[in-house]
Amino acid sequence: MINVCDINVMKPLLAEHGFHFSKAKGQNFLTQKWVPESIAQDAGVDKTAGVLEIGPGIGPLTQQLCLRAGKVCAVELDKRLAPILEKTVGEFDNLEIIWDDVLNQDVPGLIREKFAGLRPMACANLPYYITSPILTALLEADCFDSVTVMVQKEVAVRIAAKPGSEDYSAFTVFCQYYAEPKLLFDVPAHCFLPQPKVTSAVIQLNVRKERNWDIADEKIFFRLVRASFAQRRKKLSNGLASGFPELGKTGAAEVIEAAGFDANVRGETLSIPEFARIANEIARRKNND
Ligand code: SAM
Repeated sequence: MINVCDINVMKPLLAEHGFHFSKAKGQNFLTQKWVPESIAQDAGVDKTAGVLEIGPGIGPLTQQLCLRAGKVCAVELDKRLAPILEKTVGEFDNLEIIWDDVLNQDVPGLIREKFAGLRPMACANLPYYITSPILTALLEADCFDSVTVMVQKEVAVRIAAKPGSEDYSAFTVFCQYYAEPKLLFDVPAHCFLPQPKVTSAVIQLNVRKERNWDIADEKIFFRLVRASFAQRRKKLSNGLASGFPELGKTGAAEVIEAAGFDANVRGETLSIPEFARIANEIARRKNND
């Protein structure tokens, strides 16, 4: 197996195929073998796993996944990588490459079709320009045991943030609604070619088997979460009045108090069950209207 992370192997290989990195496609390739090894290892990939990889690039993580998994399905946008991947991962018969934009995929359908009888997982060194849409699609697909990805460190910290902290955001609540995050390790910029301007981190999202949130209406819940963070540092009643104009200022304050909170509470301090209480109060009012 070619060590694609070895810079003395990678550079001639890329040159041989006239390959130039595309910044627009978020191409930063790994140059340290310990990184893809650790991702595959820490993700718990084994023969029972069917792994969806996003953006195999020239295949450093793909190799490590194929060595461990029952099956790997890798979705790559850049067709110029085809002859290179043929050399680096062509030997694996448990690998299928789909040449397309991952955001065009029907993820649940793909998982059903490709991974019957296997434990579905997602693993990737993500293209950073579309981190949020990809994670949103993977979590909403609701078909993975876990999602283990490398992202910008500040995104990883945001995903794992606790209520009341500076990094806690609507995206935190979205991710934690579906999964329990675990920060695995940092990856410094010098581990990539070309080097990104930011530090990266690997985060594991263990998808919750049961979501005991007691949420009457998911749409209202997520609308409330977005409204709460849209006006950070202001009282929740302000965000609520703008996000749900039908409540009006008085209605917004009444909802908050009826759910058992102080009228001055700020949205960024609320946990998921606490958001759920307020969302359920909004839903109850709407049903009574
Ligand atoms: N896995 C390789 C590695 O770790 O060295 C490459 C990671 S690089 C950060 C991101 C990869 O995602 C690139 O190969 C890029 O071409 C691919 N990519 C970018 N946008 C994509 C999209 N919308 N769908 C699928 N792949 C995409």
